[in-house]
Amino acid sequence: MNAEIIAIGSELTSGAKLDTNSQWLSLRLAEIGIPCLYHTTVADDLNANVEVLKLAVGRADLICITGGLGPTLDDLTRHALAGLMDVDLVEHAESMQHLESFFQSRGREMPERNRIQAMFPSGSEPIVNPVGTAPGIWAEVPRGDQPSCFIAAFPGVPSEMRKMFLEQVRPRLPGGATVIRRARINCFGLGESAVEEILGTLTERGSDPEVGITAHEATITLRVNAHGATEEECLKKIESVEGVIRERLGDFVFGAEDEELEDAVIRRLVESDLTFATVEHATAGLLAQRIAHVPDAAECYRGGAVAVISEDSLKQEAESIRSRTNADFVIAIGAEAVTTDGTGRMSSKIPLLLIGPDFERSEIMEWSGNPAITKSKAAKTAIDALRRHLMQSER
Ligand code: AMP
Ligand code: MG
Repeated sequence: MNAEIIAIGSELTSGAKLDTNSQWLSLRLAEIGIPCLYHTTVADDLNANVEVLKLAVGRADLICITGGLGPTLDDLTRHALAGLMDVDLVEHAESMQHLESFFQSRGREMPERNRIQAMFPSGSEPIVNPVGTAPGIWAEVPRGDQPSCFIAAFPGVPSEMRKMFLEQVRPRLPGGATVIRRARINCFGLGESAVEEILGTLTERGSDPEVGITAHEATITLRVNAHGATEEECLKKIESVEGVIRERLGDFVFGAEDEELEDAVIRRLVESDLTFATVEHATAGLLAQRIAHVPDAAECYRGGAVAVISEDSLKQEAESIRSRTNADFVIAIGAEAVTTDGTGRMSSKIPLLLIGPDFERSEIMEWSGNPAITKSKAAKTAIDALRRHLMQSER
């Protein structure tokens, strides 16, 4: 089975609003093993809606529609479905009662226009909306020799759509009864393709559990998705693949789930009763800002400075903040030097110095490409340098 998602709304096609429903639905479908081949976005236009529906029935076994189920004149999904199925809209008594009591419970008279929300293409059935007025629509459209195409239409309001999908539509889909558990493993210091190479077949499509790689400003996240009949089965699968990942990637793995580099460093420092301070030029406080978010930071962070640091005074600045704060370690980030080559490609160099009780390590951090994220990468790389030092000295 494969799927197509159709997001309906002129606010989407005009660019006024971002279609987040398709993203959410695709992720949920993937979890139960239904790949989505198409995302279609279409304006509030009846002909266009019927057109895309016809196309979708011809190429997808499941169509999830969001939007256009409201009471206003531009809400045309039900009409489009009736057009597709070549049937009339008929009133559904229970839905009409649900609508009436929805308004009654809020002490309001039901506007005449809302009646349309209890009208369904003949042969379809309502999907109850426990949180709003617009019920969804479930239909099965015959396709000759091929199995019928399932259609689920949801209101556009994301909270309503999500609840209705999870509670009423997912259980009807093949695989919808499977248990899914996820885990995230976070790494730093290797590129996406290097991680992929090290993990080899683990990240191949169709492996179980699935391991996907995403990168965000140099942090690599491995997303493990396990499917099984029970939660235990899923957790067992996750544990085993996580063991392999940690063994292969070693110190490049710094944490799990929402854990960031700074969380990992601060945890280690607090455990060992060590302290640190920062001084930064290129990152202008980004390093300190990352640290500020960590709840235990105050236990080991002795302070930071943002300063203009000339090329040859990085060490002096680092020593100066160390003597002022009495910290065990200082992370110092120098000034950024950006150069552009003949093809217009930019590259950036930022000096990094890490000093500790009995050691000193300096390097030039270097990136080419998107200059917008070098500062964030520099802050992370600097924190990671301390993390690596702490890990090595623990051995
Ligand atoms: P509708 O069901 O078309 O009346 O949509 C109701 C509201 O849901 C709209 O005003 C949007 O704010 C929101 N909405 C509709 N479609 C989407 C979508 N694809 N992604 C996110 N929000 C949406
Ligand atoms: Mg709409």
